[in-house]
Amino acid sequence: MRDEYGVYRNKTFCGDSRCKEIIDSRKFDRNRRKKESKKAKGVLHRGVRSRVRNRILRRDNAECVFCGLRGPGNVQIHHIVPVSEGGKDIGENLITICSDDHNMVHLDMDRYEKFLLEIAIRRENEHSGREKL
Ligand SMILES: [Zn+2]
Ligand SMILES: [Zn+2]
Repeated sequence: MRDEYGVYRNKTFCGDSRCKEIIDSRKFDRNRRKKESKKAKGVLHRGVRSRVRNRILRRDNAECVFCGLRGPGNVQIHHIVPVSEGGKDIGENLITICSDDHNMVHLDMDRYEKFLLEIAIRRENEHSGREKL
């Protein structure tokens, strides 16, 4: 591909297509980094301590709350109220979920928050006395 422009995307452009490629790839990298950091902020879900994680897995039977997929390797622990919004590593705020459903929840966390909190609180009540955090 040949380009005759002296200036490309506000950058001085020597006229060589390789030069254009470099400008393009730098711009692409910057955009991608911006997107990634935005994404990381929006879907923040930090890992829980392994002791807490194991307790939640036992409470929930290591089973996804939505689809029932089972097994510690298939499921993750989700903070119903995100840590970034003051959610804590306590049973009432944690639920077992598979990675597909986890992604789904993170696309619209507000929509699932109340529903998941009710389940987590009910499970905690059923579980209380048997084990302590
Ligand atoms: Zn699932
Ligand atoms: Zn999550």
